[in-house]
Amino acid sequence: MSMRLDHTHDVTARSWLASANDDETPFPLQNLPFGVFRRAGTAEAFRGGVALGDRVIDLSAVIEAGGFSGLAAQAAHACKQPTLNGFFGMGADAWRALRHALFALFKAQDGRERSGPGIDALEQCLVPQADAEYGLPAQIGDYTDFYTSIDHARNIVKLLRPDGTLSPNFQWMPVAYHGRVSSIGVAGQQVRRPYGQRLATGGRIPEVGPCTRLDYELELGIFIGVGNGQGTRIPVSSAEEYVFGLCLLNDWSARDIQAWESVPLGPFLAKNFATTLSPWIVTMDALAPYRAAWTRSSDDPQPLPYLLTPEMSAYGAIDIQLEVALETANHRRNRMPPTRLSRTSFCQQYWTVAQMVAHHTVGGCNLRSGDLLGSGTISGPTREEAGALIELTQAGHSPIRLPTGETRSFLDDGDVVVMTGWCERPGYARIGFGENRGEILPAKWD
Ligand code: MN
Repeated sequence: MSMRLDHTHDVTARSWLASANDDETPFPLQNLPFGVFRRAGTAEAFRGGVALGDRVIDLSAVIEAGGFSGLAAQAAHACKQPTLNGFFGMGADAWRALRHALFALFKAQDGRERSGPGIDALEQCLVPQADAEYGLPAQIGDYTDFYTSIDHARNIVKLLRPDGTLSPNFQWMPVAYHGRVSSIGVAGQQVRRPYGQRLATGGRIPEVGPCTRLDYELELGIFIGVGNGQGTRIPVSSAEEYVFGLCLLNDWSARDIQAWESVPLGPFLAKNFATTLSPWIVTMDALAPYRAAWTRSSDDPQPLPYLLTPEMSAYGAIDIQLEVALETANHRRNRMPPTRLSRTSFCQQYWTVAQMVAHHTVGGCNLRSGDLLGSGTISGPTREEAGALIELTQAGHSPIRLPTGETRSFLDDGDVVVMTGWCERPGYARIGFGENRGEILPAKWD
């Protein structure tokens, strides 16, 4: 894990691009998250870009302008592709070289001469985010969704299985299921309400129909940068060197379908209809200043040695603030901002990113560049910190009241779920993940 701080984390660094210095921007010079984009409504090829202020840095254009040399140039060339798998596979030195080169190009120089292309030439390499559309940043080979918030797990067990208790394995390993890649989309995704089987309470014969308890799950997506060979394992001590970065992830969930189908083999149609990712991946380097202590109560089992390092308790966690808001059709009609439903932090998670990667590979499973891990729903100990509606509304028993006069137990058609995330710490810049929006469309059988 990395507490590696360098000049790119300097809070006093300013860009010559004014919007990057705006207090409100999620994308100051210290962030530099990666994604793939093109100008919306064009037939341009998707290609690698980096968010800065309200612009996208078109890496291909910066190459043309002669902005890069050495390892940074090789890394930027890998980003000309419509997905970033090749760039991910180059490893942490290449990721860092490109980050440092971009920082130097876009930093205000206090009157000193800069080397390489001038500001006029670099301005030609910027595309307004308002004019851009995004693709999935990687061709995702495999997707694994974890279940690593103990508060979420305890809430869910109580709500879905009234007689159940937390399974004992939860406190010994980061548990997960293997998810579905084909239905993963990027923010702005429109999600059709799924059909599936559900069994009415007390019923004996299930029926098939549109989901009546449609929910979201607030998660982080973890993009694997460098893979490992089959039959080898990634040690927890170096696990984060294999991780490129994190994005926001919405694991849409059909609770009525889930309750009926999940015993004994776990999520299937309740989860496989859609998963939505934010377009920007915030790198592990950018997240370095926001590391936090990772603690485990002395009443709980301590992790087995393969899931523990000496550094883990000092800074194994990452303090990422997360928020979910809801925008209904009435919000849009009345021009009201989305209503905040909950707020929590990733630093309360029971298992860390490094532990998830180490456990995933301990049996010899090979991860590949561009593979995606979901953190599992991120909930804190209080109701206001719940990362899913099923927890917020107590499985629908206490509906949420919205300022539009509406109530919600679960999602309605036309609802837009908006997830945001950011990191802040005194003495460092505030960096963000941008928005992860997804909209529910009505069910359709044919
Ligand atoms: Mn999930």
